[in-house]
Amino acid sequence: MSTGTSLHNAIQNVAPHLVSMLGARVLFNEPLKNHVAYRVGGPADILVFPKTEEELSRICHLCETYSLPLTVIGRGTNLLIKDEGIRGITLSLDHAFKTIEILPNSPAGATWVRVGGGTGKPDLLNWAIEQGLTGLEFSSGVPGTIGGGIYMNAGTKYGCYGDVIKELRIFDFKKGAETFSSGQFHFGYREQTAVKDSLVIWATFELKPKNSALIQHEVSRIIQERAEKQPLDFPSCGSTFKNPEGYSAGRLIEKSGLKGLTVGGAQISEKHANFILNKGNATAQDILDLIEIVKKTVKNQSGISLECEVIILGG
Ligand SMILES: Cc1cc2nc3c(=O)[nH]c(=O)nc-3n(C[C@H](O)[C@H](O)[C@H](O)COP(=O)(O)OP(=O)(O)OC[C@H]3O[C@@H](n4cnc5c(N)ncnc54)[C@H](O)[C@@H]3O)c2cc1C
Repeated sequence: MSTGTSLHNAIQNVAPHLVSMLGARVLFNEPLKNHVAYRVGGPADILVFPKTEEELSRICHLCETYSLPLTVIGRGTNLLIKDEGIRGITLSLDHAFKTIEILPNSPAGATWVRVGGGTGKPDLLNWAIEQGLTGLEFSSGVPGTIGGGIYMNAGTKYGCYGDVIKELRIFDFKKGAETFSSGQFHFGYREQTAVKDSLVIWATFELKPKNSALIQHEVSRIIQERAEKQPLDFPSCGSTFKNPEGYSAGRLIEKSGLKGLTVGGAQISEKHANFILNKGNATAQDILDLIEIVKKTVKNQSGISLECEVIILGG
C-alpha cells in the first residue's frame, strides 16, 4: 500500500487516467459523509462510480499499477467511516449496475430474477410486489444496495439473502469476473464466503408467484413492526452489534444501563439500545468511543464479547 508522498504521487499519476475514463463519475477528496447513512466520515482520496465490467477492470489495473488500495462501498447503510477518511480509490456501484431481469427457463413453479449489485433493496422489493413475486419480504425496511446486502448476508428474523440466492457474478480484483452457483458458498448470520477482495456484479434470486396484495400486506406489516421498535428518526447503521448466540445485543446493552448514553453528538438510542444514533453533529470518533464503552461494559457485566455488525472503514 502507498503511504505519504508515494500515495500523493500515485493519486496525481492515476487522476488523468480516471478523469479520461469516467468524466464526472470520479470525485477527488470527496467527503464520504455525503455517501453514507451515518452522515459521518472523512474524505475518500478518490471516489469512482464505474458503469461497466470493462471500467471495473481498468480501475483494478490502475490500482495495481500505482499500488493504490481499493475499497468498495454500496449505499453506506452499514458503514462507519473514520474521520480520517479512506486512502486510495473508493468504488461505489450506487449509480449503476441496477438492472432487474426475469430469466427465461426458470425451474417449474419458480421465477429466477437477475439483479445488478447496485440495485436498491427497496427498489427490488417494490418491483417484486408489482410483479407478484414472493421471497424478498424478509428485506422489508432494510436499506442499501443488493451488493451490500449479499456482502453482509443482510436479513431479519424472516430470512436473509442467502436463502434466495441461486447464482452470483463476482468481480475479483485480481482475477476479473466469474459466475458461480450459490451452492459453492456458505451464507451464515451476517457473513458469507463468496465475496472477499471482490464485488458483486449481479445475483440471481429464486422467487415464487403470489398475489401482489398479499405480499404488500406482509411488507407493510413488517415495516410497521420495525418502526415501532427502531429509532428511524436519526441517522444510524441499524444494529451496531451482532446478536451473540442465544442473546439479544440490545437487551445486553440495556441491562448494562447504557441506554441514552451520549458521547459528543452520538447517543445509544433510548428506543433500541443496539442502535447508536448521530444526533446531528456526531463525529465518527464519537461513535467509535461509544462502541468501545459498550463492548467494555457488557463484557464486564455479563462476560459476553459483542462483535460489531457495522463495518468500520478508513483511518
Ligand atoms: C435504519 C437501518 C436499518 C437496518 N436494518 C437492517 C436489518 O434489518 N438487517 C440487516 O442485515 N441490516 C440492516 N441494516 C444495515 C444495512 O442496511 C445492510 O447491511 C445493507 O445490506 C448494507 O448495504 P449497503 O449497500 O448500504 O452496503 P454498505 O454499507 O455500503 O457496505 C457494507 C459492506 O458491503 C460491502 N459492499 C457493498 N457493496 C458491495 C458490492 N457490490 N460487492 C461487494 N461488497 C459490497 C462493503 O465493502 C462493506 O464491507 C440497517 C441499516 C439502517 C441504516
